[in-house]
Amino acid sequence: MRIIVQKFGGTSLATLELRTRVCEIITSAKKDDIAVVVVVSAMGREKAPYATDTLINMVKEVNPKPSPRELDLIMSCGEIISGVLLVSQLSARGFEARFFTGQQAGIITDSNHGNAHILYVNPKNILEVLSRGIIPVVAGFQGVDERGEITTLGRGGSDTTAATLGVALNAEVIDIFTDVEGVMTADPRIVENARLLDAITYNEICQLAREGAKVIHPRAVEIAMQRGIPMRVRSTFSENTGTLVTNTTSGTLDTIRLISDNLITGVTHTSNISQFRINISDVEDKKGCELKVFKALALAGISVDFINIQPEVILFTVQAENTIRAVEVLRKIGIYPDVEMNCAKVAVVGAAMTGIPGVMAKVVEALTENEIPILQSGDSYTNIWCLVKREHMEKAVKVLHDKFELGK
Ligand code: ADP
Ligand code: MG
Repeated sequence: MRIIVQKFGGTSLATLELRTRVCEIITSAKKDDIAVVVVVSAMGREKAPYATDTLINMVKEVNPKPSPRELDLIMSCGEIISGVLLVSQLSARGFEARFFTGQQAGIITDSNHGNAHILYVNPKNILEVLSRGIIPVVAGFQGVDERGEITTLGRGGSDTTAATLGVALNAEVIDIFTDVEGVMTADPRIVENARLLDAITYNEICQLAREGAKVIHPRAVEIAMQRGIPMRVRSTFSENTGTLVTNTTSGTLDTIRLISDNLITGVTHTSNISQFRINISDVEDKKGCELKVFKALALAGISVDFINIQPEVILFTVQAENTIRAVEVLRKIGIYPDVEMNCAKVAVVGAAMTGIPGVMAKVVEALTENEIPILQSGDSYTNIWCLVKREHMEKAVKVLHDKFELGK
């Protein structure tokens, strides 16, 4: 049996009309010899009535620190609602479909509530309905641990569900349907002339996603890559084929082209970052100060990024939501950091930039020419990033995108 997986994001399912469009996509892909497995996210974004954030806020209104177990239970409801509606709509159109929770779909995870990892999949229920020509619609973003507790997979987790099922069912392709035309050289909400990439390697999209391009979850790419299952990121709202993610050749017979990593693939951004600066000269008990800082934060379960230790100063960042807690933890050990709230990270990503001189110079030039102060910077084989103030983020992304001539 040939199988394709189609995952639909929240904005693609937000209204009755949109779900009608989704039904059309599903039913036109389904053929006598091609079965479709559907994965859904919760409907809508942020303030929508059944969006994941709305469900979280409902609980947090009555208790700011709900138990992770209960939080997972309520968070798993959004996908159940959208999935049941979609199945009902498909059935009303004469297509037999069945809804599966993560548990019913056989998605077994570890017990890390809120950010669980999939351990294995037992797709027997899905295979059973497929063999009868029924369309399975699976709740994304959720699974069950070995004790039967419901878990969720973290932001973007529906992509991971789709990739995992794609691998488990040896699908021909995993289609990620979303509200943009595909993977672009930057977020099209920020950069008007962002260019659609018609093909991209797993490696490149993984780098982009890890650096913040939220169009697809990096874990999903890693999973699909293990088995070399092609993915396509494409729009629910158009007929275009979007971006093909693969390592192999692509195209129709007359336009076969080899895909290799580009020098620069794109520009990414992430916000909600706070930068901490500890001037060692201000610390009373200087001996082993670095170790004390990071041990204390680790003990408090606060994850720290962009660490930069120099003889006189320690720099690092934390997620905005952990700022107050991190300050408290440090004060308890007699350390009073300077905190720059409202920072953002912009990165130039290119899986083939290793060893190419001048990339950093261009990054610095683009930002300084436009009077965007660089608060911190760093690089790896595949990216160069700069920390900037949040208010400069959009501009920084635009000028970097221009500097590297990534636009249309
Ligand atoms: P879904 O709900 O379909 O999963 P997401 O909001 O998770 O949708 O991802 C799609 C969004 O990703 C787009 O609306 C776009 O704003 C954003 N995005 C960020 N970077 C990129 C990029 N490089 N290419 C395309 N989209 C991007
Ligand atoms: Mg998403």
